[in-house]
Amino acid sequence: MSSIIEQTVETYGIENWGAGYFGVNRKGNLIVKAPENDGLTADVKEIIDDLQKRGIGTPILLRFPQLLFGQIRKLQTAFKKAIREFDYEGGHLCVYPMKVNQNRAVIEEYLKEGSRYNFGLEAGSKAELYAAIALEQSKDSLLVLNGFKDRDFVKLAFAGAGAGKNVVIVIEKMSELAHTLSLVEEFTSESPEAKLPMIGVRVKLYSKGSGKWEKSGGEAAKFGLTTTEILDVIRQLQEAGRVDMLKLLHFHIGSQLTDIKRIKNAMKEAARTYSKIRQMGIPIEFLDVGGGMAVDYDGSRTSFESSANYNAQEFANDVIYVIKTVCDDENVPHPTIIQESGRYLSAYHAILVTNVQDEIEAVAEDISPMEIDEDDPQVVKELHDLRETINSKNYREYYHDALEHRDELFTMFNLGLITLEDKGKGEVLFWDICEKADAFAQQKKYVSEEFDDLRRLMCAKYLANFSVFRSMPDNWALEQLFPIIPIHKLNKKPTEYATLCDITCDSDGIVDKFIDLHDVKTVLELHKLAANEPYYLAMMLVGAYQEVMGNNHNLFGVPHEAHIFIGEDGHIIRKVISGGTLSDALETARFDAVQLRDTYRKTVMKRIDTGDLSTKTGSQLIEFYEDQAESYTYLTMHSNEEK
Ligand SMILES: *Cc1c(COP(=O)(O)O)cnc(C)c1O
Repeated sequence: MSSIIEQTVETYGIENWGAGYFGVNRKGNLIVKAPENDGLTADVKEIIDDLQKRGIGTPILLRFPQLLFGQIRKLQTAFKKAIREFDYEGGHLCVYPMKVNQNRAVIEEYLKEGSRYNFGLEAGSKAELYAAIALEQSKDSLLVLNGFKDRDFVKLAFAGAGAGKNVVIVIEKMSELAHTLSLVEEFTSESPEAKLPMIGVRVKLYSKGSGKWEKSGGEAAKFGLTTTEILDVIRQLQEAGRVDMLKLLHFHIGSQLTDIKRIKNAMKEAARTYSKIRQMGIPIEFLDVGGGMAVDYDGSRTSFESSANYNAQEFANDVIYVIKTVCDDENVPHPTIIQESGRYLSAYHAILVTNVQDEIEAVAEDISPMEIDEDDPQVVKELHDLRETINSKNYREYYHDALEHRDELFTMFNLGLITLEDKGKGEVLFWDICEKADAFAQQKKYVSEEFDDLRRLMCAKYLANFSVFRSMPDNWALEQLFPIIPIHKLNKKPTEYATLCDITCDSDGIVDKFIDLHDVKTVLELHKLAANEPYYLAMMLVGAYQEVMGNNHNLFGVPHEAHIFIGEDGHIIRKVISGGTLSDALETARFDAVQLRDTYRKTVMKRIDTGDLSTKTGSQLIEFYEDQAESYTYLTMHSNEEK
């Protein structure tokens, strides 16, 4: 591997956050590796080129089901190992929380691999449950139901159990228990042999040993039953003679849990609760520890928000060890551990690739060398002087002078003392000085803060053909960081510093925070844009939450999607699903494309009738308008337009 490639691999941190799935090949292209088989790789640039040939442009979401399989196996293996190491007597099962990514392909691929380990599903709404009921799961896997439930939701659970599934209704509100018990009576009187759902309870935990267990409230948590409520559930079940239905104890303390200490505390508390209930003679078999396993998006292995200070094996070891210790201490059997990790399983498998459409410049670069006239205002002349004589010794002082002159320029303009041309000249000179000062400053060993700020100001703004709101909503809403990397040219040193702007008309539609091992970068190293040559960027690890949380801001639709298999001969494009069209996007705002078309046609016809448009121009406009309804909502690349 050439040393430049090694450097770019380090610049973008691929080996820190890539979990072994990504790399760079000799051509300098980003590759995706098949899990457990480094020999099989897919070249992302080649995939994009192939798709271009089929008329599928960017942005496009690439799905690699093998990475989903890889994550499933990592998790399963980690727990298997921990169970063996600590002589744990219970099992380990996963249920995939559908809310993380309900896309049919994702769920079906998950079930394909997960079924080998009896991994099941978790549904949190009627719609998710409705789909889950009809999907094929392995016989011994679970279907766990969380979230608030009305009677129909509970009845759907019975529909699932009636079809033979191992459904668990996790009680979040007392009313759900009432629905469940009345439906039990209804079902068993008609069909005494029918398989019934199991019951679980969700507990409110108070980690950090805050000792508020006995206090009523637990006001902070939205979900979960208090101790008294749990005791009430048990009492009601006993009265109904159905206490044997209570099989599961559940908790979930949040997503992207970055600190293993917090997790251990929660495990301790939950294991105690399980033990105490078990000692009451209730046959609980499952301890559901929820989701929350974090993804190390920045690769720093710290408790920073976009990272995690543990890996899958450490997580599994701690969970198994803590639960075993508590159960042994309390003399109760080890429960089967249910895990609802969604982010960890699905984040890696999807990559959004898009092109940089253009650069937004602070000042146009192609302005001809500035001529200074005798009658130019003094301030312009002085700026010109600074520009001509700035050097590595005086740059700091000259930069400060330039800042003053710029203020003066604006003041004079506002007082009506200089012309628009003078102001324009002055601005160009000012930015020239900044550019030179920045270059001098970066040559020094120690770059002072003011020049760091200048760098941010001077950095290029790359216009990326996507919507942050649609494809990386957590970056906008939560400042969640995702690795971003060019998919090609990685054998060349990136010489530019840039931030990204998306194509929405929203000034929040930008990406100006990037992963870093020690901090957060405010600019990203990228390559200089070349004329007539596309430059592609990949937003990595976007397989969890981003698709479903993405919104229609500015009516940008769902991007194209391709399913990629990595085989002996590189990539195989298994499936291509076209992204949303203008008419799809308009429909989400309750517009009717047919009606819009008819209205437009009528209006133009009238203009033709009155002679304002020729018949030819008019019908061409109508035809164009109609065609556009079925076009992609994103921009067409310049190089494609020229063809
Ligand atoms: C969201 C959610 C999960 C998934 O959490 P991840 O952080 O994606 O692992 C699991 N269980 C419940 C109850 C949830 O609400």
